Amino acid sequence: MKIARYNEGRIGVVVDAEHLVDVTELVGADATAWPPVGSLRLIADFERLRPRIEAALPGLPRIALRDVTLRTPVPWPNKVIAYPVNYHDHGREMQAGYRADVQGFFLKPASSLSGAGEPVELPIVPGREVHHESELAIVIGRQCRGIAREEWRDVVFGYACLLDMVVRGREERVFRKAFDTFCPVGPWITTADEVGDPSQLEMKLWVNGELRQHANTRDLVLDIPGMVQMAAAVMTLYPGDIIATGTPAGVGPVKDGDQIRITIDHLGEMNVPVVQGTLGQTPVFAQPYTPDIVKQR
Ligand code: MN
Repeated sequence: MKIARYNEGRIGVVVDAEHLVDVTELVGADATAWPPVGSLRLIADFERLRPRIEAALPGLPRIALRDVTLRTPVPWPNKVIAYPVNYHDHGREMQAGYRADVQGFFLKPASSLSGAGEPVELPIVPGREVHHESELAIVIGRQCRGIAREEWRDVVFGYACLLDMVVRGREERVFRKAFDTFCPVGPWITTADEVGDPSQLEMKLWVNGELRQHANTRDLVLDIPGMVQMAAAVMTLYPGDIIATGTPAGVGPVKDGDQIRITIDHLGEMNVPVVQGTLGQTPVFAQPYTPDIVKQR
């Protein structure tokens, strides 16, 4: 099943390439509630709700995807976990002396999440580059802690495309990755049963039609079972928690007016415009910085 969130926070199930069906009331969600936890509750309660959704879908009206604005599927997760340097080729381009399997992860704030129908808004960071990182997102489906590696499938709900946006520099990593709209996720969550083997997924990212990143999840340093197990070793994972699994080689700058396109096998694609915003200026990025990756070119 493909679970989307759209417009003012309504929950939909994508039924074909061009349509979704509104299931907001069917699953007992309130699109206007704060905090926005409707999709979290749907994920937590999915086993019970799934038969009800499947039975109702044929009788509910189709809504054209082109007429809706896709939002981030889970706007209020307990946490967004992100593994840095989890493809060897990206480690080489960044001249990083470590990899995710021995470095661990960092966190991105939930407030950085945005959706497939929303732009990435560049902060005011003169002299700095904001880079795209193309990533597979894992969405957790079940509360867990201290699981064995082979239990990973039991706790994964689904997958999505994710852009881990970042201001390049040497300052705190979380600070550089925390701006609003620096974590587009979407276009929706595809449940794990529709993905097959997630360790064989092709992922591509273009900027303005130019292919910048192309990888397969078989090349992950720390694989999907390993990432889930490592995160659950440290923290209780909750339904709706998101794991950004790391980016391959080819990261690079985006600027006002650019268009980022990301596709992953079985998960669909996002076309996200980049716009220059008017917020985000701080003393932290007062000094210019030339990332190593640019020096190498
Ligand atoms: Mn990343």
